[in-house]
Amino acid sequence: MTHRRAAHVEWKSAGADHFTGEVSFGPLHAPVDGSDLNVLGVRFAPGARSDWHSHPGGQVLYVVEGTARVQAEGEEVVIAGPGDAVHAADGVVHWHGAGPDAPMVHLSITHAATEWLPRKVTDEEYQGR
Ligand code: MN
Repeated sequence: MTHRRAAHVEWKSAGADHFTGEVSFGPLHAPVDGSDLNVLGVRFAPGARSDWHSHPGGQVLYVVEGTARVQAEGEEVVIAGPGDAVHAADGVVHWHGAGPDAPMVHLSITHAATEWLPRKVTDEEYQGR
């Protein structure tokens, strides 16, 4: 068993290649021993969000604090709060980020792969327009 204490989680900037605004990753569990389970804490500054992307095998987002905005292509923006879980199915194109007024932290549970589209989330998309 591995006990990764909070003080030893190395939070690092996600950079600007696939995100708008300030985003950082805290690796909680990396794939090991033939399993592709990947669990990250992801912290978004107010207004920050991912680019459009999908995950082979899907993704569960679990909101820990703040208010998340999540949108699947062709659907309305979903507002999710602490304790809420959002599932994006295998290959579904989507984005996620913080609301405009407060930071947001969610867990990301995936099979360790993200397929990024060369497509930023515009302010209009972010605002649900
Ligand atoms: Mn995702």
